[in-house]
Amino acid sequence: MIDQLIRGTAAGGGIRLVGAITTSLTAEARARHHLSYVATAALGRAMTAGLLLAAGMKRPGARVNIRVRGDGPLGGIFVDAGLDGTVRGYVDHPEIELPPNPHDQLDVGRAVGKVGYLYVLRDVGYGYPYSGTVELVSGEIGDDVAHYLAHSEQIPSVIALGSVLKTEQVMGAGGLLVQVLPKAAGDPELLDTLESRFSQLTGFTPLLQAGLSLKEVFGQLFGDLDLEVFPEVQLLRFYCPCSFDRMLGALKLLGLAELQDMVEKDHGAEAVCHFCNQVYQATEADLTRLIQSESSW
Ligand code: ZN
Repeated sequence: MIDQLIRGTAAGGGIRLVGAITTSLTAEARARHHLSYVATAALGRAMTAGLLLAAGMKRPGARVNIRVRGDGPLGGIFVDAGLDGTVRGYVDHPEIELPPNPHDQLDVGRAVGKVGYLYVLRDVGYGYPYSGTVELVSGEIGDDVAHYLAHSEQIPSVIALGSVLKTEQVMGAGGLLVQVLPKAAGDPELLDTLESRFSQLTGFTPLLQAGLSLKEVFGQLFGDLDLEVFPEVQLLRFYCPCSFDRMLGALKLLGLAELQDMVEKDHGAEAVCHFCNQVYQATEADLTRLIQSESSW
């Protein structure tokens, strides 16, 4: 199944649903950053969460940044996801590998660490971003993002994230976001129903393993609750807007003396984009042109 996101509602519009399949973009992040298994699962979950959060925004150009910083060996995770379905991200220590947890799952919680914070910034698309920070709950990312939504944005939410990795390959990745809107929050019977369903939901991985489509996942969870699945399917992809010209622009900020030094000592410069690990090489001629253009300011 290609990477995609669908939206829907249940309970007469009282419950908002977003589902995403992120297998290919997780595989691309793994290949670009040379991620270990546990780092793949961690970054894959965080990128999926970013896309699920961005999907609830309205204005074209809206983006969500998620930063996770725990006390585990993985260091920090950073993700930048857009309403347009693009996402990029990285982890500080992509090589960290850990044995599976007692449930025989990749131990994302231990890799991230349980003590730390999750920071979310929403750039709504017209220059007034807002942000919030919560302490980590488990470092498993899904729980932590749900905790952020409930406490910082006051929307009771459940988020299930998962991935299946086998023999060097990402076999499946994705997630589900369920939010209870104010019109449904006052219905105790509905809340009870939801609670019992979510207690049976053991993450997104079993759903991926069962080979269900997003529509089937929605149907299985909410088919009897006045489910409406919106027809629009949004495609998702790993994308970074970095370029050779942007890299030159960044080098320019180092100043004339530093650039001259690079020409004389290194006869060129190499820059790596944090977000996508793309390597850019500037030759001596590129740097000289840059110095000349800077001298004429
Ligand atoms: Zn890049």
